[in-house]
Amino acid sequence: MPDQPVSDRSRRIQDVTPFRKLFAFLRHSGYDKRRLDPEVFDFTFGDPHEMATSEYVEALRDAALPQDELWFAYKQSELAAQEAAAAALRKVVDLPWTADRIRMSTGGFGAITVSMKVVADPGDEVVYSLPPWFLYEALAVEAGLVPIKVNALQPSFDLDLEAIAAVITARTRIVIVNSPNNPTGRVYPPETLRALADLLEEASARNGRRIYLISDEPYNRIVFDGATFHSPAEFYPWTLLCYSYGKTLLAPGQRLGYLAIPPAMPDADPLLEAFESVQIAAGWLFPNAVMQHAVPRLEELSIDVAHLQTKRDRFVTALREMGYTVASPEGTFYLFPKSPIPDDEAFVADLAQRGVLVMPGALFETPGYFRICLTATMATIEASLPHFEEALRSTQPG
Ligand code: PMP
Repeated sequence: MPDQPVSDRSRRIQDVTPFRKLFAFLRHSGYDKRRLDPEVFDFTFGDPHEMATSEYVEALRDAALPQDELWFAYKQSELAAQEAAAAALRKVVDLPWTADRIRMSTGGFGAITVSMKVVADPGDEVVYSLPPWFLYEALAVEAGLVPIKVNALQPSFDLDLEAIAAVITARTRIVIVNSPNNPTGRVYPPETLRALADLLEEASARNGRRIYLISDEPYNRIVFDGATFHSPAEFYPWTLLCYSYGKTLLAPGQRLGYLAIPPAMPDADPLLEAFESVQIAAGWLFPNAVMQHAVPRLEELSIDVAHLQTKRDRFVTALREMGYTVASPEGTFYLFPKSPIPDDEAFVADLAQRGVLVMPGALFETPGYFRICLTATMATIEASLPHFEEALRSTQPG
């Protein structure tokens, strides 16, 4: 009997280039084994490199102690979690957010994938800028959507609004914006977001069909130099704001996030109801009960952003002194330096030989760069610097 165990749908997901490349990179670099090696300097993922704080652990421990018989019952979005999330978001994004327009999700992943399915039908187009977070394409393809990619402006990595306008068609349903940006560290200025909003408003009117903006902003509390973050939601009411607690708390394995709908979006109820239905039908994509009970306490905690900024400054200064070209990120926990040779994958492989693990720009569809994650400790950063220097020297003649 001619048969294949894997559906065409699964194959289409597995064949997504950035997805395939990511898992091939992890396998070939032996990442899972090597990252535990004390001789290795790991700057690959936004994972913690130190034990969680006692405040974080106590918040979870307390949330695990049942206060009533429904403590561990099926949970959708818990009101106390929604209220705490709305109150905290009001301080980050200057809009009168309310609990009734928040839906708790399994991290940013859950909020993004459900948002895509709620507003777009198979065949609809989703536009985003390169370099992107490497999982947008897999999420889009899984939802049956067609990814349309435009390059960000180089070397600033600002949004290229003309390029975005040029790719909008009658099938465009979603534009994804990620600020502060992974991997470039850019925080888009309000003028750009306002101009993008105007562009989307005009295109929606022309199409006779609303274009939604997914604002992927898990790093909206991780900005440096006292800068103020601005969300696209301030400028475009048809924004689906997707947040993850995985960055602010540096605990991405705990799968906690939410969707927030701006107060100015008209007729949001059908969208919110559809969001819940898709969450259920896609496999009960709500955070577990303990995480939801913990939200009010977790909203009071954060990684030490000032210390992250100190690590950024040390790393950027040292790399520049060596001769690397690297912008100083305005937010997130990533540096995105230029590879000293055009073949970033070869350069990253050379660094790996020296015990330094980073990600090639190829994984972000932007060859010629590489990504360094700043969640490593200052001691790891210091100890890695001579290896960055030797790797650079080895690319220079004589
Ligand atoms: N968007 C971006 C830009 C990210 O960097 C990440 C995590 N790396 C996510 C979404 C997903 O976040 P989470 O894993 O916490 O759901």
